[in-house]
Amino acid sequence: RRAVEAAYLAKPAVTADGTRVRVMLNIAGPDDLAPLDPAHVDGIGLVRSEFLFQGRDRLPGEEEQLAAYRRILDWAGDRPVTIRTLDAGGDKPIPGLTRAGEGNPFLGVRGLRLSLRHPEVFRVQLRALARAAVAGNLKVMVPMVSVPDELRRCRDLLDEALAGLEGEGVPAARPPLGMMVEVPAAALSVADFDADFLSIGSNDLIQYTMAASRDEPELAELAEPSPAVMELIARVAVHGAATGREVSLCGDLAGEPRHVPALLGAGLRTLSMAPTSVAAVKAAVARWRAAG
Ligand code: PEP
Ligand code: MG
Repeated sequence: RRAVEAAYLAKPAVTADGTRVRVMLNIAGPDDLAPLDPAHVDGIGLVRSEFLFQGRDRLPGEEEQLAAYRRILDWAGDRPVTIRTLDAGGDKPIPGLTRAGEGNPFLGVRGLRLSLRHPEVFRVQLRALARAAVAGNLKVMVPMVSVPDELRRCRDLLDEALAGLEGEGVPAARPPLGMMVEVPAAALSVADFDADFLSIGSNDLIQYTMAASRDEPELAELAEPSPAVMELIARVAVHGAATGREVSLCGDLAGEPRHVPALLGAGLRTLSMAPTSVAAVKAAVARWRAAG
């Protein structure tokens, strides 16, 4: 099977009935890209920007962030690159920034909730991203959005960063601003959000829908895509198709060939995954055809 799957690596993903599926990468930083060929994928669907903030005693400055984002954009050429703003808290603590001693960190001040409470930190990242947007096909995505007002406030901060850069005469561009759909409330009210694109974070969407911790092996059965989770995923995919907004799925489900039929059946046409999953997922796509 491995050898057969490897033959798919360099080809575009196409279903048995001829539908093109976009296969994107999830990466944790520019170093992940060194062994990879950009021609094998349709772009980068998720850059977890935590790599800039973890394991150090100082927050990364604007120039350092800009250099890292440019390295990723350079690798991708004209392919889209979706960089997610800092998703700290929950399973990703950043000493000195995230709250210590939260009773329930996964339900606490994490992701965009944290960034909105630290505009002085968030502004540096938004400025670096707006400057990087000049250099490639950059999209910016925010994690852990629950209500439309959070995304609105984020858009205001991006506007402010752009106005500041313009005032200083620093080259910058406005990247599309999208959101992760990983809180059930966001999936249920997806039409109310002013997002340029959507990406389903199934790792967190499953844990919050099933009330089952994503890192508890004993509850692995509950992490399988249940009818409830699939209904939320399909709802977001249908909304995207109806409004012409791109919807991808970038949680671990997208990298598991056995789940590809359900995800395509739910209407998804863009899947973002770890580099090691690309060949096997393309092979699974090639075996699938729409029902009826
Ligand atoms: C997710 O929640 O599915 C996701 C892609 O984000 P992370 O795993 O980084 O929380
Ligand atoms: Mg998540």
